[in-house]
Amino acid sequence: MKLCRFGDNRFGLVRDDKVLDVSGALAALGHHAYPLPNYDLAVANLDTLRMAVEAAAGSAHAHPLKGLTLLSPIANPGKIVAAPVNYQKHFDEATAEPETFSRAQVRKIQEIGLFLKASSSLVGPGEGLALRFPTRRTDHEVELAVVIGRIADRVPASQAFDYIAGYAIGLDMTTRGVEERSLRKSSDGYSVLGPWFVTADEIANPGNLDLELLVNGERRQSANTRDLILDIPALIEFASSFYTLHPGDILMTGTPEGVGPVQTGDVITATIQGIGSMEVRVRAPDA
Ligand code: MN
Repeated sequence: MKLCRFGDNRFGLVRDDKVLDVSGALAALGHHAYPLPNYDLAVANLDTLRMAVEAAAGSAHAHPLKGLTLLSPIANPGKIVAAPVNYQKHFDEATAEPETFSRAQVRKIQEIGLFLKASSSLVGPGEGLALRFPTRRTDHEVELAVVIGRIADRVPASQAFDYIAGYAIGLDMTTRGVEERSLRKSSDGYSVLGPWFVTADEIANPGNLDLELLVNGERRQSANTRDLILDIPALIEFASSFYTLHPGDILMTGTPEGVGPVQTGDVITATIQGIGSMEVRVRAPDA
């Protein structure tokens, strides 16, 4: 099942080039009072929600996908966990250019570990990307994003797939410089998730997916998730050894080689096999 959010917080079921408006299915999530749970309600109740979506689909209004403003398919992740340099060739390009990639921070993932991106940085592809510091180099990083489905505390890699709800395409946008990663990668809009959330049952092997990123039609990044240094189960084991993962938490698995700068007016097209493709427009600050 491919689930999306669009327009004015509508909830949709993606079928080919149409989106069925199944917003009514969200009633299955019930009503909640303060303090709200620190996880994503839709992902935490995915089995119930799926049944409600199926039931609503029959009489749902169908919108053409083209022209919809796609929001982040996960509305309220408790946290966004991200892997630094997790492809060997990206490690190689980063260590070859120390004036762009801070020497202190480009180290093996097994040593440097993971980092967190602010949940306030999350947007969907239709919202576009406003450059925060147009005079500083701002890079695209396409990554397979894993959405956690269950409470995961100290989960061994051998059981990690039981904790995955599904997948999406992630862009881990980055201001280059010497500051801490979490600061440079947490500006508003610098975590793009889309185009929709694909439930885990639709992706037979997330460890063998082609991923690609174009800027203005020119290929910049092209790789396969089989080349991850720490694969998805290892990342879940690593992350959950330090903190509990909750339903809806997003794990950005790292970017392959070919990262490079974007500028106002650029159009980023990111594609991952089995998920789909999304377009993100880069604009000036406050535009
Ligand atoms: Mn990244």
